[in-house]
Amino acid sequence: MQPVAALDRLGDENAFAVLARATELQQQGRSIINLGIGQPDFRTPEHIVEAAVEALRGGAHGYTQAGGVLPLREAVAADLFARHGASVSPDNILVVPGGKVTMFMAITMFGEPGTEILYPDPGFPIYRSMIEYTGATPIPVPIREENDFAFSADETLSLINERTRLLILNSPANPTGGVTQRDEITKLVNGLENHPNLAILSDEIYARMTYEGLPHTSLIEYPQIRERLILLNGWSKTWAMTGWRMGYGVWPDALVDYARKIAVNCWSCVNTAAQYAGLAALNGPQDEVDAMMAAFDERRQVITELLNQLPGVTCRTPLGAFYAFPNITGTGWKSKALASALLEEAGVATIGGPDFGVLGDGYLRLSYANSTQNIKEAISRVEAFLSEHSPR
Ligand code: PLP
Repeated sequence: MQPVAALDRLGDENAFAVLARATELQQQGRSIINLGIGQPDFRTPEHIVEAAVEALRGGAHGYTQAGGVLPLREAVAADLFARHGASVSPDNILVVPGGKVTMFMAITMFGEPGTEILYPDPGFPIYRSMIEYTGATPIPVPIREENDFAFSADETLSLINERTRLLILNSPANPTGGVTQRDEITKLVNGLENHPNLAILSDEIYARMTYEGLPHTSLIEYPQIRERLILLNGWSKTWAMTGWRMGYGVWPDALVDYARKIAVNCWSCVNTAAQYAGLAALNGPQDEVDAMMAAFDERRQVITELLNQLPGVTCRTPLGAFYAFPNITGTGWKSKALASALLEEAGVATIGGPDFGVLGDGYLRLSYANSTQNIKEAISRVEAFLSEHSPR
């Protein structure tokens, strides 16, 4: 056999390896608190599950249009209008099996040898993996702690050249919890007018997850870039639906038919019952989303305070998503060594910052999608571990 060389350039998402190892240790009878994987610890709200069951019982089990059933795409469009005042045609919306799929499509549409793609570092590891797969050169946009992990418009713009085909943005951000505020986004959009051929992928999967009353500014609010903006969002995080595999992309006119063709060539359409669940999520009561966010907010404050009490650790207050990204350089430990020792020896799963890019060195990612009680127990295990072991 001779598979293509590009396969050797595909990366991975270490959060899944950590989850597998944590599960293995649990099966051996070890007590493991999982602050590794990025998924809500809540159940999908019951009315959403019911909608899927009803859809199946009612006979909605055949293929649908490749982009998703019309009522679902209309509901996404209505949601974008309600939240961001953006008028989007359902024809430009493609419902896909999970948030990642829009990323895969956008990066493969623009990446090829000789081109450059800008992506956040530290950032979601699949960006770099996919860029390398296409043969394009990945150009990291530094996401800095001193900037509260927001991206900088000036720094981003300074990295664009004639080879740059795609700019990937992510706010609220994984793994840092950073949120880029409106003024900075407006500055970026204004600067992008000097680069009219550059496509933009805005990953807004954590759009509904901001704290302290901070609004989420979506790139879809800027009409001047609409004809080259791909918006990524989905159901995984907001409605605790990671395993349903439901995401969507809003595509510009010039690309939407290519996106639809990729769907037709690969998965035909998203699981029909899941689409009806997604419809119920958008159109149904939002009180459980509000309750989840209130719980995340409380945990966010607890984990930040406790992390800052650890010797050698400092942690910015995350303003979005459900991750804390403490700086651990003062402990003397290397990030990956600490993450591995905490899992194997202290029973706490976290992810080493370097799994999110070279600028993640010196940090750990802790997901606070776990109970307050477990978070407190986990941090006290970390504290005991750090006081009993010298850095490796
Ligand atoms: N984008 C970011 C920034 C993420 O953190 C994740 C999941 O962790 C995704 C996209 C993918 O979401 P999904 O599970 O819906 O594919």
